[in-house]
Amino acid sequence: MDPRIPEAASVTSSKLIKFTNCRLLRGDSLVKADLWISPETGRVLHGQDVFYSQKLGPSKVIDLGGKILAPGFVETQVNGGFGFDFSNECDNLSDYAKGVNKIRKGLVQFGVTSFLPTITSQKTTLYKKVLPFLKPSSSIRSASQGAEILGAHCEGPFINPCRNGIHPKSVLVKPEDGFASLAECYGADNLQGGSNSTVRLVTIAPELPGAIDAIADLDARGIIASIGHSTTTYEHAISALSAGASTITHLFNAMEPLHHRNPGIFGLLGVPSSNKPFFGLIADGIHLHATCINLAWHAHREGCILVTDAMFAAGLPDGVYDWTNGDRIEKKGQVLHLVDSDGKIAGSASTMIECINNFRNWTGASIAESLTAASRTPARMLGIDGVKGVLEPGADADLVVLDDSEDAEGWKSLKIEQVWKFGEMVFKAD
Ligand SMILES: [Zn+2]
Repeated sequence: MDPRIPEAASVTSSKLIKFTNCRLLRGDSLVKADLWISPETGRVLHGQDVFYSQKLGPSKVIDLGGKILAPGFVETQVNGGFGFDFSNECDNLSDYAKGVNKIRKGLVQFGVTSFLPTITSQKTTLYKKVLPFLKPSSSIRSASQGAEILGAHCEGPFINPCRNGIHPKSVLVKPEDGFASLAECYGADNLQGGSNSTVRLVTIAPELPGAIDAIADLDARGIIASIGHSTTTYEHAISALSAGASTITHLFNAMEPLHHRNPGIFGLLGVPSSNKPFFGLIADGIHLHATCINLAWHAHREGCILVTDAMFAAGLPDGVYDWTNGDRIEKKGQVLHLVDSDGKIAGSASTMIECINNFRNWTGASIAESLTAASRTPARMLGIDGVKGVLEPGADADLVVLDDSEDAEGWKSLKIEQVWKFGEMVFKAD
């Protein structure tokens, strides 16, 4: 039996909410329709079934005045925010737990209702200490906790020292023993596999010795292998795809540029469509030129996933801040640079809604397509299509209400008005 259908039939209470007078994100378009949800189950209901077959009426009707109602955003690369970084080595682990909770509660105001906390390359001791705090949180379906953790994204340390970005070279390692090297680094207990795996996604450079074997083992366990921070050739990247890699970490950044005789990782967007990988794009206006975003989008729309790559300074005022490994970072608006370096970009302070707005204006993508790149497409990549990223019956009632406008220069903006998690409102704009 389809697990998405019985949810509607199992609801016996009339404690139901109906959103009306709204434009719902359904498939590739916005459609005028009502949406029924149950705050008790935290899921979307089959409205017609509830109303006509079960003859239940809503206890609350919310008129959205023509605004957009879309699935909550699913973020697959968040390093931190609000003064906390998931790669922090806290002396006191209760401080780490507090930092995680602060980010979960903060992210919902940007429309992010579920995410992968991301750890950059670190010593093995740090992974073993902090990963247990980044387990999938879905066993407690609590709206009050804020954004839901879907498991951790380990970005490194199995990456190429020539494309390390801001990851310290001193901690980078080779996966010479394949998956055993990963288990030694992250802790076998954190690599359970499947949707309950603490480590849900690993960014790995396929050219490192043992990497292709590790990718095959990750895939066999249902942990997503993502190609990134890599000097790999197109041909070797194809081997990584064949071994089971299914996505690319921040396309264009920390990899070889496209060359007409050696297309590198970007060339994977030119393989036959059924084999094309997903890919993350940082549409913050700092990491990538708008034209590169447009190019990638037109090469493979169904694979495009918007990520912020946000780190601890996101949500903080401008200034200079201490960072890990004795480095310092300067924040000016959304721009973050390492102090005393050659101006290396040190992540981003952009929010997901800013990236969505940039993406929409730069590519000409529709509202529906832009929102899909931050919701259904990452959910498909994570294997949770039908649960997250859609407004179909049985899906989690993680929602954003958006207003759309256009300024005199023709810049189109979506603005977050409300955010709902598991059928409860968790944010409302002033
Ligand atoms: Zn990176």
